[in-house]
Amino acid sequence: MRLTVLGTAAPYPRPSEPCSGYLLQSDAPDGARATSVWVDAGSGTLAELQRHISLVELDAIWISHRHADHSSDLLVAYYALRFSELRPRHPVPLFGPADLVDRMGVFLGRGSVPQLPRVFDFRAMTDAGRARVGGLELEWTPVQHGDTEAFALGATDAEPSASPATDVRATADAVRRPRLVYSGDSAPCAELEGFAAGADLLLLEAGAASLPEAGAHDAATHHTAEEAGRAASVAGARRLVLTHIANEVGAESALAQASVTFASELAAAHPGAVFEV
Ligand SMILES: [Zn+2]
Ligand SMILES: [Zn+2]
Repeated sequence: MRLTVLGTAAPYPRPSEPCSGYLLQSDAPDGARATSVWVDAGSGTLAELQRHISLVELDAIWISHRHADHSSDLLVAYYALRFSELRPRHPVPLFGPADLVDRMGVFLGRGSVPQLPRVFDFRAMTDAGRARVGGLELEWTPVQHGDTEAFALGATDAEPSASPATDVRATADAVRRPRLVYSGDSAPCAELEGFAAGADLLLLEAGAASLPEAGAHDAATHHTAEEAGRAASVAGARRLVLTHIANEVGAESALAQASVTFASELAAAHPGAVFEV
């Protein structure tokens, strides 16, 4: 399985730095086509995605939450798939929070509402769940992100011999496959730590520059880099990749902070980086 970083910027894009987005691809046996999933569609990531594949080659899109720095390029992806020379063979499966497509319809206008299902095959995420997409097994679980419904993603290469109807749990027990976990945006929470247990690569946001002030009324929304390191340690992750790092902190300082609480392999994501899992 391969993760290509399309963008990481928070909370707005900068030149050569799109917002959050990744291309997740399965291993493919010789001659076979890899399964490709666009994970988060932050502004600027649709353009970066096309360095690697065409939109019509996507097998699915997965959106962690509806904040614009993770989802806004879905709007122009709709234009591309509906009005351009691109001709998708079938609607692209789109996994996202339950209200995602309704909100897109509000933004795009009433005329788009009956057209959206011709472009996206929407699969609403309301609780923990899982799905097989081609050569990938995806699973997700709710995580804490202020007052916004948000999900973390887990992914493994699928068992080659497993049919979609095969019980996933049974095959996962039979062969341990490297697992990637992506936090989406998340405050430190037991849900994420449990979900990320034993991850081979934990892609974890570090969007908070500092701890919330004591007595703050708003629910926590992000990890500091130090908290990200601690969460990865609690989860027993083998590798930690920091992403969506607070702009005022920067990658170098974030890595130094995370190394205080996480002693294993540590890196920072940047556009164009590729991580093999
Ligand atoms: Zn964000
Ligand atoms: Zn967010």
